[in-house]
Amino acid sequence: MNINRPQNALVPVEEAVDRILDKVAPVEAETVPLTRSFGRILAAPVTSPINVPPFANSAMDGYAIIASDSSGAARQSPCRLTVVENVPAGETPSCTITPGTAARIMTGAPMPPGATAVIRFEETSEFLPVEDLPSTEVLLYNPVNAGDNVRLPGEDIKQGQTILKPGHRLRPQDVGVLAAVGQAQVPVYRRPRVAILATGDELVDIEQPLTPGKIRNSNEYGQAALVEKYGGEPVMLGIARDTVADLTAKIKQGLAANVDLFLTSAGVSVGDFDMVKTVLAGQGEMQFWQVAIKPGKPLAFGVLHHRRPVPLIGLPGNPVAAMVAFEVFARPAILKLAGHTRWTKSSVWAKLDEEVTNSGRRHYMRAYYYLAENGEYRVTTRDSGVKVQGSGILTSMVWANGLVVIPESITYLPVDHQVEVWILD
Ligand code: AMP
Ligand code: MG
Repeated sequence: MNINRPQNALVPVEEAVDRILDKVAPVEAETVPLTRSFGRILAAPVTSPINVPPFANSAMDGYAIIASDSSGAARQSPCRLTVVENVPAGETPSCTITPGTAARIMTGAPMPPGATAVIRFEETSEFLPVEDLPSTEVLLYNPVNAGDNVRLPGEDIKQGQTILKPGHRLRPQDVGVLAAVGQAQVPVYRRPRVAILATGDELVDIEQPLTPGKIRNSNEYGQAALVEKYGGEPVMLGIARDTVADLTAKIKQGLAANVDLFLTSAGVSVGDFDMVKTVLAGQGEMQFWQVAIKPGKPLAFGVLHHRRPVPLIGLPGNPVAAMVAFEVFARPAILKLAGHTRWTKSSVWAKLDEEVTNSGRRHYMRAYYYLAENGEYRVTTRDSGVKVQGSGILTSMVWANGLVVIPESITYLPVDHQVEVWILD
């Protein structure tokens, strides 16, 4: 085992995260059809091969005209033009607009050559008809300027323009833009495969009978959901018993499944049967830290030797500590593997409903934030129904919609102090 400092020295949270991320690199790219690209992480820049829109077109239903033909037009003294053509969307105009002529044009239809503006139906005899006006003529009731109601080619996207950069998570609007430039196949990062292994002689799986002394394995399921939440593919390995042989076998099984990251829970504190760190050391380079964090102080981290090195994060066993440590340590690792370039957790700043005390470690307190009637965000770290800050109380995570982050340097914060709250939902 490679212990870099005395057992009792606490590694700061940021340092632990940096040292983990240092051993993590993005997985390779793959190509998916546009219809499967929503939510995926773009692996290469996308440039547009075309102008969007590709041609000048009308932004309104109206008449394409030479703008100066409308100068001085008013309801009482309209300008009169001869209608030479009707241009529906999807057609190409055949006439050129010359002084004194107009083309009836629909939204999205190409501008006829010569026309410089579109006047809306609402401002013409189309909407305010006059008797005896031949159908080949139109009256304009308002002046328009050159360029009015005309969309220029490339107004939205220019040919050659980079529209999306790698590391970007594709949202519905991004999928729409990719469609607009004709990107039928999209280069995205493969979803990272993340092995999840629970350890402990006391664990039984969810469908097994609960015999004396046993508890159900909840960590593996919660963690699989977290892996999915952050864009990974969970590879569930079940429960390893607290024996060298069983742990070793399960680790080999995970490596054979070609995972990109290994997550274990429990067996990393300093109890008699906490052999995860020892066993893992035999499979690679293992480090064990006490991190200056609450909850979730004991953390194993290392790299397993395989065809390629596979990073392993040994999360604590306590269900709440395991979830918090997942958010703090495993989430950035999964996001980096998945091709993200940023993993800052979304947060709000809110005023404390109660005072809080802290003792030199970074404290992630389960919390519930809400918008108060005065329009300010407030946050509470207490609730009458659940014993909120007990580190074995998993329902406190169900109650919480956030984690208040109390920096390690802070020992006391009064009511109404503004704190950062990580958004869990
Ligand atoms: P350990 O780190 O092995 O000492 O475990 C700390 C606590 O977490 C113990 O109370 C364990 O029973 C509990 N625990 C460990 N693994 C799990 C799991 N997969 N699901 C729920 N609780 C667990
Ligand atoms: Mg244990």
